[in-house]
Amino acid sequence: MSAPDPIEVLVIGAGPVGLTMACELKRHGVAVRIIERREKALYHPNAAIVHVRTLEILSAMGAVDGFLKEGYPFPGVSLHAFGKPIGSIDLHGIDSPFPLPRTIPQHETERLLNEHFERLGGRVERSVEALGLEQNSSVAKVRLRYLAENNREETVTARWVVGCEGSGSLTREACEIEFTGERYTGKEFLQTDATLRWSFPHGPGYQFLTKDYVLFLAAYNDQGFYRIICARNDANPENQEPPTLAEMQALVRKIADPNAELLDAKWFNRFRTGYRLAARFREGRAFIAGDAGHVHIPIGGQGMNYGMHDAFNLAWKLAAVIKKEAHPQLLDTYTAERHPTDAALVRGTDHGFHLLVKPHVAVQWGLRLLGSMVIGMAAFQKRIRETLGEMKVAYPSSTLSKDYGGSFGPAAGDRAPDGIVVRLPEQKTLRLFEVMHGTRWTLLLFAGHQPSAVHIEALERLSASVAAPYGTRLAIHLVLCGTPPVPVHENWAEDVLMDRDRHLHDKYGVDTAPCLYLIRPDWYVAFRGGLPYQPQLAAYLGRVFT
Ligand SMILES: Cc1cc2nc3c(=O)[nH]c(=O)nc-3n(C[C@H](O)[C@H](O)[C@H](O)COP(=O)(O)OP(=O)(O)OC[C@H]3O[C@@H](n4cnc5c(N)ncnc54)[C@H](O)[C@@H]3O)c2cc1C
Repeated sequence: MSAPDPIEVLVIGAGPVGLTMACELKRHGVAVRIIERREKALYHPNAAIVHVRTLEILSAMGAVDGFLKEGYPFPGVSLHAFGKPIGSIDLHGIDSPFPLPRTIPQHETERLLNEHFERLGGRVERSVEALGLEQNSSVAKVRLRYLAENNREETVTARWVVGCEGSGSLTREACEIEFTGERYTGKEFLQTDATLRWSFPHGPGYQFLTKDYVLFLAAYNDQGFYRIICARNDANPENQEPPTLAEMQALVRKIADPNAELLDAKWFNRFRTGYRLAARFREGRAFIAGDAGHVHIPIGGQGMNYGMHDAFNLAWKLAAVIKKEAHPQLLDTYTAERHPTDAALVRGTDHGFHLLVKPHVAVQWGLRLLGSMVIGMAAFQKRIRETLGEMKVAYPSSTLSKDYGGSFGPAAGDRAPDGIVVRLPEQKTLRLFEVMHGTRWTLLLFAGHQPSAVHIEALERLSASVAAPYGTRLAIHLVLCGTPPVPVHENWAEDVLMDRDRHLHDKYGVDTAPCLYLIRPDWYVAFRGGLPYQPQLAAYLGRVFT
């Protein structure tokens, strides 16, 4: 009897990261198996915020609608320090089709991703545990235990494995990837999801800082249902019991409002934390993503979000290599891009811990004296907004980013901005993100503010020259300023996007001269250059695509 065909990709763990990975591989047309040792989804609201860039990613995946419907648009955080209000962080103002983050409990995020996976024709295999992993240069062998079948064991062969098992990752351990960091001592964190009656208006989030406590409340709605997290001195490090309603209420009363009442609590949690980062995210045919590669304090609510970004970054690359559309070296860019990004997040949360949770006396005085002034500064607000929204994540030094200037807008490696366009010939008004939806790369040929016939003809020749070899992997669009019907060259074979009020040209910083923007399937700029850089664009495409 011949051996069964290897599984193309085996994803281990159906948390938010494994589910994102499986959904994306499926969308890119790759055969994927995803296993999860838990019999049923858990009620665990842990990650309560889905940030702006994650919503953009979910829209690229075709999965954002449920999050927009069920998540609460979180408007900002009112800040109080040492008994006084010191200002607020206003989260409005991010330039995105989804400008506000959404609060939604993690188990709902997992449910929505699971439903999306099933819509794509997938199914999570539950009660299946991975026990061991070995690999050679052509396959990985994973030992599985079927918990619902008398613990039957089987060794399966997979061409690729993605370990999304959380912080105790089997894949990471089997690959002997170091996972180092620091455990914070002296502080414990208590959490609940509950309804709160108090004197503050419902709707925004709140943060209260005192000498010994940090209390953070994220609103799930404008009716008073909150995620409540309190950090305080750890009087009994052995205590693992979840806090009680009375304990949480006493904390809210002590720190924020002496008349506060807590009711209808859905969940309690006590934890101590620290940070750890894997030395790399790949070993041969095995990758790790999400908490398997990085864990840290949940300041800013980024952990799950960054994990989902890991999966989103890896999935299209793995799919392109499996489908033989790209060279295997493309896979090296996963660690190269995501490791520094996740390391920066880990460092940022560590600074956050020392600034907010365990602040030095000097920092406390700095906050007392300068806190409201700094918070009131527009530049500070913008920075916080964009950092929390994950809008500044970029891969400028990736080998996938080639930049030759040509505009005042985003450079290679930056997030590709959205904008409204009218697509010809059907004259349909669309967002650029809708135009880019799909699994292909996008080549935007900006004609400039005053397109000349010479420029249009040059762009047309360029389009024809790249469409022939790469047309199935590349969607090519001419972007023209003006209102239809601006005379478009009648031989133009690809989509034309009319940029009526030059908004898209302005967002991409394109002036009078044409500019070429190549966008990756994960909506980051791969290549930027003026018309004279056509040969470099051709060389780039030749290098990336087989
Ligand atoms: C208290 C708390 C609050 C948090 N708050 C936030 C927040 O506000 N925002 C945010 O973004 N993040 C937050 N996080 C972090 C967030 O919960 C994690 O980053 C997220 O769960 C990571 O997802 P994951 O899929 O990588 O791993 P997990 O969610 O840990 O999922 C891993 C899955 O793999 C399965 N598994 C493990 N081993 C095996 C195996 N051998 N075989 C088969 N299956 C296996 C597990 O059963 C599990 O279902 C918080 C975390 C905690 C603990």
